[in-house]
Amino acid sequence: MAIEANTSNVGDSAREWDVIVLGLGAMGSAALLTLARRGARVLGIEQFTLAHAHGSSHGGSRIVRTAYFEHPDYVPLLRRATAGWRELELASRTRLVHNCGVLYGGLAGSEVIAGVKESARVHGIALESLAAQHVAQRFPAFLGQSEPIEEFLFEPGAGFIRPERAILAMTQVAQHLGAHVRERTRVQRWEESHDSVIVHAGESVERTKQLIICAGPWSPEVAPQLRAPMVNTRQVIGWVTPRAPECADAHMMPAFFMERVGGDPLYGIPMSSDQAMPRGVKIGVHGRGQVCTPENIDRVVREAERVELEGLMQRIAPGAAGAITQSAVCIYTNTPDDHFVIDRLPEFKRVTVAGGFCGHGFKFAPVVGELLADLALDGASALPAGFLRGNRFDRA
Ligand SMILES: Cc1cc2nc3c(=O)[nH]c(=O)nc-3n(C[C@H](O)[C@H](O)[C@H](O)COP(=O)(O)OP(=O)(O)OC[C@H]3O[C@@H](n4cnc5c(N)ncnc54)[C@H](O)[C@@H]3O)c2cc1C
Repeated sequence: MAIEANTSNVGDSAREWDVIVLGLGAMGSAALLTLARRGARVLGIEQFTLAHAHGSSHGGSRIVRTAYFEHPDYVPLLRRATAGWRELELASRTRLVHNCGVLYGGLAGSEVIAGVKESARVHGIALESLAAQHVAQRFPAFLGQSEPIEEFLFEPGAGFIRPERAILAMTQVAQHLGAHVRERTRVQRWEESHDSVIVHAGESVERTKQLIICAGPWSPEVAPQLRAPMVNTRQVIGWVTPRAPECADAHMMPAFFMERVGGDPLYGIPMSSDQAMPRGVKIGVHGRGQVCTPENIDRVVREAERVELEGLMQRIAPGAAGAITQSAVCIYTNTPDDHFVIDRLPEFKRVTVAGGFCGHGFKFAPVVGELLADLALDGASALPAGFLRGNRFDRA
């Protein structure tokens, strides 16, 4: 990391802020950076250290893609986020995004296949339709696949990003621009008065014109006033040490997202020569795991869970299969419709919330930062994100 932060955790003299950002995971770090760029007096408060492994933003890699099967409305936001990541790479002189492409697979007309095609059609995104034998020739990791997949689509402009490195880059550039960061400080409570929000953080009491809450899996606890119901679920990820590593390197293998007939999709991210990344092909199942809280989650990965993941890899990418030699547990925060919530908190004038990123939010962080800064500083945003407002659940 080339940036030298010119402010530190200690000695914040200011006690009255334009904005306090509660939680410096993916979204809070992005909000901090945008606010610092706009010249706001901003303080970010994080209960752990930056880029920690207790929430939703750890594990070495996250898939980035634009042909968004979840809904074409996300695509303009994704394009803006992609530009934001590039800008951050330049500002921090750090490589964050790796363009290995993403291979999607599923039954013809399935949710993922139909959704990827629709987003690509509506927004003119480059996409290749590949026959199974061409997939195996081009990407030998998938040779001998036994999952019944009828259609493959390849998005060459997609790939993966390094989440911990991105969070450090965002917070360091923000600090360079004058933002203050306080780590290992838990916000116990906050309350809005007629002219400010009072934030009780560790030993100190801070006053701010605006509060932005980006508490990830802690959102239900920190912002219980949210109308959108959010549920945390336990997610297991594993790193496969492939028997044929030459097939599993990011030069030879794309990231993948494969629907399965008998269960939730399997996703994977290839090996990288980046020594700072965990070794192996990272895999996980994209679905709702066991309901949990950040406090009661079981962080131990069982042998049966490892064996199940190894079996799925053998069915989907046998050329890159092998034993799981490393594993971790992470948290999804889901809303009922699996779309995010980015909005002002109803009945409050000075509080904005971003949460419920449902296991697919990381790639959006720069544009979420912009949206949050717009809402906090201007009260509204011109970005096309109305479909993410929390009041959609009022009608439910
Ligand atoms: C296994 C897994 C795989 C994923 N894969 C992808 C993917 O491939 N692509 C993709 O785009 N997305 C993916 N995601 C989703 C993405 O990682 C998350 O949506 C995103 O990281 C959420 O960021 P966040 O800022 O909301 O939460 P977090 O990063 O968890 O940040 C919340 C922060 O708030 C802090 N906090 C909470 N309460 C307090 C308090 N009271 N005081 C102070 N600080 C507090 C926490 O400590 C934490 O640092 C994945 C998620 C998981 C778990």
